[in-house]
Amino acid sequence: MAFDYDDQNIFARILRGEIPNDTVAENDHALAFRDITPQAPSHVLVIPKGKYISFEDFSANASADEITAFMRLCAEVIATEGLGQANGGNGFRAITNAGSDGVQEVPHFHLHIMGGRIMGPMLS
Ligand code: C5P
Repeated sequence: MAFDYDDQNIFARILRGEIPNDTVAENDHALAFRDITPQAPSHVLVIPKGKYISFEDFSANASADEITAFMRLCAEVIATEGLGQANGGNGFRAITNAGSDGVQEVPHFHLHIMGGRIMGPMLS
């Protein structure tokens, strides 16, 4: 299935440098930046640089290099934010919203990585 990507979505504009962001880390295929409305002491969004609207689109259509780079950037963020259990951190929550039931606001795939507090149950 083809996904209809909106080139004017706010993360596309961030990737083009039209809107500032608080970058945490970056590699060839992905960018990590602080969420503008943090829900936790550490709240970082990791996005692919390619035009993928959702997890469904990215996981089905991105190349192996893009997927590896995305996941490695997530690992870097988890480590550098001090969240990783491998490095003595207390853990984190990683979520992605998709579509209307998922209440996705920005139609460019992004993973929220949140930590620094107990996140609580996921009921709402
Ligand atoms: O619901 P969704 O996962 O699409 O949420 C989009 C996220 O992008 C929100 O947490 C919002 O605070 C964040 N955002 C941002 N910088 C912007 C616009 C939105 O960090 N310029």
